[in-house]
Amino acid sequence: MMTECEMYSQHRRSWVRVTARELDTVPHKFWPAGLRCGECHGEVNVHHHENGSRLHHFEHRHRNLGCSQVKGFDGVRRQHPRPLELAPS
Ligand SMILES: [Zn+2]
Repeated sequence: MMTECEMYSQHRRSWVRVTARELDTVPHKFWPAGLRCGECHGEVNVHHHENGSRLHHFEHRHRNLGCSQVKGFDGVRRQHPRPLELAPS
């Protein structure tokens, strides 16, 4: 399960690592526009605990079998076919 990802920091003008626990402390209106997998750079969505309260983990929006963070990883690491590379506008 992915509990860490990367967010684009406008302040630092670069991608920085963030954990689900850290992001959970940030008010929703301040959340970054883009979150990506630190390994394959594919876009990720946030998932909450079953009771709907706290942020729990991240999942790829579009699964990449070339990413070891994904269930069903095929053993050959490669970048996501649609990576988030540039700063979200
Ligand atoms: Zn990935």
